[in-house]
Amino acid sequence: MSLVNIRNIYCVGRNYHLHALELGNEVPTSPMIFTKPTHALVAMNGGDIVIPKQQGEVHFELEIVLRISDHYTSGMSAEQAIDAFTLGLDLTLRDVQSKLKAKGYPWLPAKGFKQSATYGTWLPFVSLEQINRSEFTLIRNGEIAQLGHPSDMIFSIEQLIAFIDTEYGLGAGDLIYTGTPAGVAKLDEGDQLEAQYNGERIGSCIIQ
Ligand code: ZN
Repeated sequence: MSLVNIRNIYCVGRNYHLHALELGNEVPTSPMIFTKPTHALVAMNGGDIVIPKQQGEVHFELEIVLRISDHYTSGMSAEQAIDAFTLGLDLTLRDVQSKLKAKGYPWLPAKGFKQSATYGTWLPFVSLEQINRSEFTLIRNGEIAQLGHPSDMIFSIEQLIAFIDTEYGLGAGDLIYTGTPAGVAKLDEGDQLEAQYNGERIGSCIIQ
């Protein structure tokens, strides 16, 4: 998949109960959507990913990432609307985000920095049922850091597609980072990360 075909990067905040609670946030009553610039994208292909220095903690957030089909039109089923999915990291400058939240400022400085949207190998999207039976895992330096089940999402994949389409528009080449389960934590230089979908590695990187 070529990066030049990516148009909008939508991300969902607080879409798993335990993650919302671990950051002391309320569980939202409608989807909480923010975006990242396309310049944030970087492949997790075993190489280095460079995170910001001296702006406080950078946290990992492993998420299911959906890619919208070239043939998308409003009202399609999820199976028609999504042509591929992968796992990706929504990297977050957590200290910066806390300050922005306190002031009611936009999240861009905390969420939109370069290389803050990583993605693994794209897999064909077969069905919602298959995704909802899956699990995904972030392994950090050989240990499980996050374990997620897409069936635990507060707003389902179908609800997210419908909401984003209605509120902001959805089209070919858009990505949706669907939110992270509990377990987010600070990255350190030299960390080796591996994203696993049902136990299979589909992305890895080294933090620099
Ligand atoms: Zn996230």
